[in-house]
Amino acid sequence: MTTIFDKILRKEIPAKVVLENEDVLAFHDVNPHAKVHVLVIPKHKMARFSDMVSVDEKIVGRFFKNVAVVASHLQLDEKGYRIVVNCGEHGCQSVEYLHAHILGGEQLPGWDG
Ligand code: 5GP
Repeated sequence: MTTIFDKILRKEIPAKVVLENEDVLAFHDVNPHAKVHVLVIPKHKMARFSDMVSVDEKIVGRFFKNVAVVASHLQLDEKGYRIVVNCGEHGCQSVEYLHAHILGGEQLPGWDG
């Protein structure tokens, strides 16, 4: 299934790109939920987080390392940030292309809201 993120990756749809390398593309979320809200997608396509069970751990490792690299690139390391990965229907995943949300740039609400 072709998703909006496939099209962003293929540059068929514009996005505010933060960082691109051989493993990932990172771009600003069109509907930010924090002062900084960036999405990171792997170039090795997986629809959901749960697909990682059957993917080489090097790909999984490179994806998460790159999430940290993007956050660092955004200068979020000192104050910190939140990583969110929604998975499937109960997780309210709306785009069926694995993506990590990086949220930060301000104090985020605690777990209880
Ligand atoms: P999910 O709910 O699947 O975890 O997150 C999907 C995210 O993708 C949402 O935060 C939504 O705002 C973002 N999004 C959806 N369509 C687009 C788009 O066309 N461009 C960008 N930059 N973000 C998008």
